Amino acid sequence: MRLADVVAMSGGVAGEDVLENVLTADGVAALSEALTFMREAAGEGPDGYLSVEVVDSNSMTCRARRIDDGDQVIIIPLGVLARARALARRLLQHLALDEVVRVVGNPLDSRPGWEVLPGLTPVYSEYEGAEESQWDALKSFDGETGASDLRDSEAHDVMSMCLFYLVVHEMVHINKRHDKLLALADAGSPFVPHDVLPHLRRGLEVHADVMAAVALTKSLITEFPLGAKGRSNGVSANRLDTLFERSSFAACLLFSMYDTYRATVFDYDRGNYPHPLVRYELTHSVTLAVINDTAPSLMGTVTKATEAGWLRCNQAISNLELACAQGRYGSPSHGQIFRCIPVTALKYGTPVLSMQTRIADEYRLSLLTEELLRRMNAAMPARG
Ligand SMILES: [Zn+2]
Repeated sequence: MRLADVVAMSGGVAGEDVLENVLTADGVAALSEALTFMREAAGEGPDGYLSVEVVDSNSMTCRARRIDDGDQVIIIPLGVLARARALARRLLQHLALDEVVRVVGNPLDSRPGWEVLPGLTPVYSEYEGAEESQWDALKSFDGETGASDLRDSEAHDVMSMCLFYLVVHEMVHINKRHDKLLALADAGSPFVPHDVLPHLRRGLEVHADVMAAVALTKSLITEFPLGAKGRSNGVSANRLDTLFERSSFAACLLFSMYDTYRATVFDYDRGNYPHPLVRYELTHSVTLAVINDTAPSLMGTVTKATEAGWLRCNQAISNLELACAQGRYGSPSHGQIFRCIPVTALKYGTPVLSMQTRIADEYRLSLLTEELLRRMNAAMPARG
């Protein structure tokens, strides 16, 4: 198949007018810089030239496709980027309300009949209907978020970072030749042991997540700070801690959008992908492992920043859930609003993560206390 046919079948190139209509002029500016940056990173692959196209489709599904002349293309639907931008703007607005609320849950709880509230379907559902009406719904959702230059510039960073996660994940599929291994497996090749066969697709997805986290983390410390190498990249943050905080916020938001069915971790035992929460945790732990290996002096800063990004996104989602409970996102036809909450299982990790931080804090406190006691006992020995 030719490049033009692959792109046309996926919705066609999203032109300037479509982009500006859905993302606003500022959003388009951020996206085109981020896209140029990613296209330069893609370029020549092991088997041919690798291009990246954003297509006029409201879908959430990104794809890597091989084309006739041996080249490849990564297809990113505008839908996923536009949702990420609109959701980031809305979440940041909820965050600004300064409500402190925690809606807790557990990724082991099953939620039969869970569904998305009508007011959140433009961002949290792959919904039916004509493309035109889907864009209209998303624009009207976004239009209800108040304008703020500060929040918008953060939201655009989050959108650009989502693009990086999506493109780099697909680049791993291509550059590590995942499709070749799959073809060998299909042909019964001994390269793929029999017992690995049922898990191969999932293994490749997890591999793509892990390698994407490795590549992005390295890129964040080498390419981004203060516009390294004089390139613009669609991200306005130029401090390392802000970069990692926003990257963590973006990963949390992105995986939350793929948590469409609020299924338990057990429901993900089979299938091509682990639970979105597991994918986030994996991304997060790989990020820290890469820092530990390549730039250990940054470990404290990056640990703090990534946890701050995660907690910030989680606090925003909790605030969104309070708004849902108050009926601000509409009511389902059966009227049982609580069946639609929590909005995403992604926030379930918060107690776990903050527990780890707390345990570490308490342990440090114990060490500190021990040191104080040692000094005291040295200075003031007990009388025998
Ligand atoms: Zn994939």
